[in-house]
Amino acid sequence: MAEIPTISNTTTLKKYLDLDQKGAIIAEYIWIDASGGCRSKCKTLKKKPESVKELAEWNFDGSSTDQAPGDNSDVYLRPVAMYPDPFRLGDNILVLAECWMSDGKPNAYNFRHDAGVLMEKYADQEFWFGLEQEYTLLDSVGWPYGWPKNGFPAPQGPYYCGVGTGKVFCRDIVEAHYKACLYAGLEISGTNAEVMPAQWEYQIGPCTGIELGDHMWMSRFMLHRVAEDFGAKVTFNPKPIPGNWNGAGLHSNVSTKEMRAEGGMKAIEAAMENLAKRHKEHMAVYGEGNEARMTGAHETASYDKFTWGIANRGASVRVNRQCADEGKGYFEDRRPASNADPYQITGMIVETLCGKIEG
Ligand code: ADP
Ligand code: MN
Ligand code: MN
Ligand code: MN
Ligand code: MN
Repeated sequence: MAEIPTISNTTTLKKYLDLDQKGAIIAEYIWIDASGGCRSKCKTLKKKPESVKELAEWNFDGSSTDQAPGDNSDVYLRPVAMYPDPFRLGDNILVLAECWMSDGKPNAYNFRHDAGVLMEKYADQEFWFGLEQEYTLLDSVGWPYGWPKNGFPAPQGPYYCGVGTGKVFCRDIVEAHYKACLYAGLEISGTNAEVMPAQWEYQIGPCTGIELGDHMWMSRFMLHRVAEDFGAKVTFNPKPIPGNWNGAGLHSNVSTKEMRAEGGMKAIEAAMENLAKRHKEHMAVYGEGNEARMTGAHETASYDKFTWGIANRGASVRVNRQCADEGKGYFEDRRPASNADPYQITGMIVETLCGKIEG
């Protein structure tokens, strides 16, 4: 693949970013497309909205994103959350929108809607989620950033939580993204360098119910956007490099009010029984290409079989040592791949633990 020429000039851009907007607000509407990517477009508002309810519905050409046929191409954007814009600053905002069709049904890729119904119905359980988003940074030709051209770095070992030249790559992107998430008010709980060089992780959570998916998707949008500024690409491919290199996951930490309370281990054990019964249903929404990652090696479990264990990083679900000792806490579902949809993951977990909603 050919190298992508860069013509951006961020120093010159700064001059324009500082221009007075004369009271107008830029609202960037962001939605999820058919391939698990983000799309966005901008609109000028006359005044600053106080709440997301003041934001107008909008639309886009769904035939250009594989989200609708050409002869009925309008897809509607319904704002569901807004955040301060870390790229434009001031009163400008980023707006997360759900996709809806003209017949009043959610778009086929709108996984937020169904998850939202479940979260609402079982709100009394007070679900908390914390997801660990792993990802890999690629250079302009699609090879992991900082890896030798046409070659491989030294074997894994020094890179996880590494410090120093040759051990970590693109820390600037990671730092910029972390700050951008905090500025936007996202519940980002930390970040670390991963086992494979040029692979990183950040965590979103704990968030209640549907908010986890909202914050996760906004953080993904911002990661792509920040990496664009630095001329790097982000991939959420769960096994970007075959062979003896770690894959990328989206470990999903889960608790209910009952699990967090005294004696909560009983509720966790009951959850394990329920999860074991619906392994296939979970794997179906736990990301594409996950078979290549879940080999049983590289801190993964086997793709086909459900297992759980205390402090076991080779099990489908891990209960951490502290939780086992205290008899309460949360569990970690290690199965989801890095490219899975957080609404589908959290929705499926709630459905399995609490029951399906008919209709
Ligand atoms: P690991 O040890 O697997 O690398 P991390 O520290 O990366 O774990 O991530 C743990 C995640 O679990 C964080 O996102 C954190 O917010 C979340 N978390 C902590 N407590 C709870 C809880 N009670 N319920 C759900 N998630 C939780
Ligand atoms: Mn046009
Ligand atoms: Mn982690
Ligand atoms: Mn990790
Ligand atoms: Mn983990």
